[in-house]
Amino acid sequence: MRLIFLGPPGAGKGTQAEKLAHQCRIPHISTGDILRQAITNKTSLGLQAKTHVEAGELVPDILVMALMRERFGQRDVKQGWILDGFPRNLTQAQALDQLLQIFGQFYTHVVNFRVSAEVLIARMLERGRQDDNEATIRRRLAVYEEETAPLIDLYQRRRCLIEIDGTLTIAEVTQLLQENLTSQLLV
Ligand code: AMP
Repeated sequence: MRLIFLGPPGAGKGTQAEKLAHQCRIPHISTGDILRQAITNKTSLGLQAKTHVEAGELVPDILVMALMRERFGQRDVKQGWILDGFPRNLTQAQALDQLLQIFGQFYTHVVNFRVSAEVLIARMLERGRQDDNEATIRRRLAVYEEETAPLIDLYQRRRCLIEIDGTLTIAEVTQLLQENLTSQLLV
């Protein structure tokens, strides 16, 4: 199974990706997690990414693609994967296509989690992550609308999009996701 999880910050992608990846024994690849880890460990990637993450801006594509190339070079990705928070704009989507071609892989579906802005803001304020203050949250939502939302159209045109109502409870979303993937013969 090779899936891309798409949706605004706070839509529940990470929670669902982690559960499903665990169930299917495949890696959950979250660029946000990798970047936060790099920032904590003060690696060169972390030092370069820090100001962007703290401001709620996207980290430059060149850094993100370098980390994804490295991640795809690891053995565990051969079994399948769930990408969470990547790609985040059209440039990254194209770069992903090229990367997958090199590795002779392709995604099976893109799952889009739909949630309204009010619910997202409330959820993120509750979550209380370091980049979850109100100004940064608003910026991340604006960046999502500008840069990431156009990917919905792209994957819709490719006929691989699965739409999920992300306002439901975690258990309900898990169930809905299972049903959709089962009907696609993916789980
Ligand atoms: P996330 O955990 O996916 O919400 O990501 C947290 C932050 O990490 C984002 O606000 C961005 O600053 C950065 N980030 C994560 N993934 C990407 C990506 N694919 N491209 C650029 N920046 C990213």
